This record gives sequence, C-alpha cells and structure tokens, in this order.
Amino acid sequence: MPKKELKEIFISYLKDNGHRITNERILILDSALSMGNHFDADELYSKMRSDFIRVSRATVYNTLELMNNCKILTKHNFKGDRARYETKHGRKNHYHIICLSCNKILEFENQSIEKTLLKVCRNKNLKLTDYSIQVFAACESADNCTLTNQPCKIQ
Ligand SMILES: [Zn+2]
Ligand SMILES: [Zn+2]
Repeated sequence: MPKKELKEIFISYLKDNGHRITNERILILDSALSMGNHFDADELYSKMRSDFIRVSRATVYNTLELMNNCKILTKHNFKGDRARYETKHGRKNHYHIICLSCNKILEFENQSIEKTLLKVCRNKNLKLTDYSIQVFAACESADNCTLTNQPCKIQ
C-alpha cells in the first residue's frame, strides 16, 4: 500500500479517536515507514535525530502506539525484549525465529500453520482474528549462526 494511503488511514484514525493531528506525528509516521524490519522506538528516534528531524522521544513512543492501534504497524515483544515494530500493511503473515545467542531474527512464512489455526478455531465456532508465533532458538556460536545474513537482524 502506498505511503499516501497509510497516511490517510492514520489521519482518519487520529480524527476518529480524538487525537490531535500534528506535524510531528506525521513526520514520525513517514520515518517509521521507511525503517527496516523490526525497529524499536529508540532506533527510530535516533534515526530521526540523525536526519535532523526534531521530535520528542515521548511523542515517538506514543505515536508508535497509535500506529500499532490502527494496525499500520505490528508490535512485537520478543521474549521480554523491548517492543519492536514492523510495517503491517502490504506484508503477508509471517513468523519469527529469534536466535537467543545472538539476537538475530529470521522471518518465515508457512501456510499450513495458518490453515491449522483456522481449522482449530472453526471447530470451536470461533473466528480467528489475529495471531503471532515466535520461535526461540539458539545457535552454537554467534560467528557461525546461520541467521547471520538475514536482512532483518536486530542489533
Ligand atoms: Zn517480521
Ligand atoms: Zn545466532
């Protein structure tokens, strides 16, 4: 989905929920959408500072929450780690394997997992609304971690 549409979604969400539409919030939206995978609030804040965009840290934190609430971003808490966000729109459902030895993340897709979940819910007369799967694993040594070259590693 183009950025422009996401901006419209965000603006109408802010309006509908009685939040002020500020330039700061729109700048944060823009910067967040151009971050790589799985960033945290402080990484976004530092990135904006290095781009000479003036925003307060508190506004970055609460704007990310708002973007999570209106489903532009997905928020992850990987095993008690600080919250990480990624763009939700335009992305297929995917799962994360987190390497506990070196904190790298591998994303993978698997349709049979989703089918199983749908089936379990259907059998119970439930409508599946959302889910997330996090897999924790450990490599033997960070130097040889097979996740080393994955694009979405966390630092
Ligand atoms: Zn992801
Ligand atoms: Zn590893």
